[in-house]
Amino acid sequence: MNIADFKKKLNLDEVGRNMYQLVSELYPICRSITGNGFRQTLKMIKARVPLEIHEVPSGTPVFDWTVPKEWNINDAYVKNSKGERIIDFKKSNLHVVSYSTPIKAKMPLAELKQHLFTLPEHPDWIPYRTSYYNETWGFCLSHKQFLELKDEIYEVYIDASLEKGHLTYGEYFIKGQNTDEVLISCHACHPSLCNDNLSGVALVTFLAQCLSALSLRYSYRFLFIPGTIGSITWLCLNEAYVSKIKHGLVATLLGDTGHSAYKKSRQGNAEIDKAVMCMLKHSGLNYKILDFSPYGYDERQFCSPGFNLPVGCLMRTPHGQFPEYHTSADNLDFVKPKYLADSFFKYLAVFNILENNRKYLNQNPKCEPQLGKRGLYRLIGGQENAKLNELAMLWVLNLSDGSHSLLDIAERANLEFDLIKNAAAALLKHGLLEEL
Ligand code: ZN
Repeated sequence: MNIADFKKKLNLDEVGRNMYQLVSELYPICRSITGNGFRQTLKMIKARVPLEIHEVPSGTPVFDWTVPKEWNINDAYVKNSKGERIIDFKKSNLHVVSYSTPIKAKMPLAELKQHLFTLPEHPDWIPYRTSYYNETWGFCLSHKQFLELKDEIYEVYIDASLEKGHLTYGEYFIKGQNTDEVLISCHACHPSLCNDNLSGVALVTFLAQCLSALSLRYSYRFLFIPGTIGSITWLCLNEAYVSKIKHGLVATLLGDTGHSAYKKSRQGNAEIDKAVMCMLKHSGLNYKILDFSPYGYDERQFCSPGFNLPVGCLMRTPHGQFPEYHTSADNLDFVKPKYLADSFFKYLAVFNILENNRKYLNQNPKCEPQLGKRGLYRLIGGQENAKLNELAMLWVLNLSDGSHSLLDIAERANLEFDLIKNAAAALLKHGLLEEL
């Protein structure tokens, strides 16, 4: 079965439920850019998709960076003078600044406050903070709780380790008919946060699972990596193979109720950019197109000038544009099965375009061929679909001069890709086109 047929049979309610279920299972784990939380996440994905798990030692130089020490945490709290855990890692892993160094100390409020982070504008939410490349420690809490802290002596405890270890990432490869590759990457380094990043993790897992059962023209490579350092490490270790990547998408922010948004690759007019824009334009739903900028997710590394890969980011509401971003409010209520499923469907629709985008040459280029005598022209007038099909055939014939792909034709004709694709298939069957 190919992607087009699979897409038609898809039960979107079921897909949404399954994706949401995986998000819920991964939600409690305390992940970071390295460590056992990341490994456990990959193990759970591996139960669905036979990932290859890679371990890169701390200290490995990767371009201008170095693979960091591995961070693991067992427990952490702040106790008041009565011995009550008033900030408790076991209640929310967001309470501890990711990569906090271990500490066991007693201190007055004034000293503790230098290590506390809150969001005064959203007093009930816990912020998500990291300190990957600066060895320090800290706690995050709601501003409401912060205001209630009394001037007393606190006991601070972080049972964590920051030691030589590994950076872990997962990779899955599906071999298609040819060696050209489509890259799909997601970051999986955030702790209990759903839209950023578990929606992407769930989408990539289910895409990998579905595509592995289909017949594909391209080969597909799926990456589950820690943000920034993961893509830098992967690019450094795989530099020799990177030229095989012909199209790519970074998957994150895919479960909120906002419209879809597409951030173009650095190239700006790559086939992936055109394919996503064509899909969104004919989706019947609102959407937003964003130009490339060197700020965002791992597309920053894939699109750095030394690689300049055609990799965009297909998401919903962009990061920083919803208040729940990087807070405890990006939780299981913030993502919805319906929107996860919609995002999944859109990814499949993009791959359907890539899989079927080809160039043809019109075999009867001197004036229009007579479609009627070949049974390609409607016999009874007035049917809306028939009219559209004919229009699509005329566009395909006219622009199949060797320089336009079916996607170029769909764009120029302002018609849905599948209409153009089906028109080309009919013309090909009657010998009016030849594939280039
Ligand atoms: Zn993030």
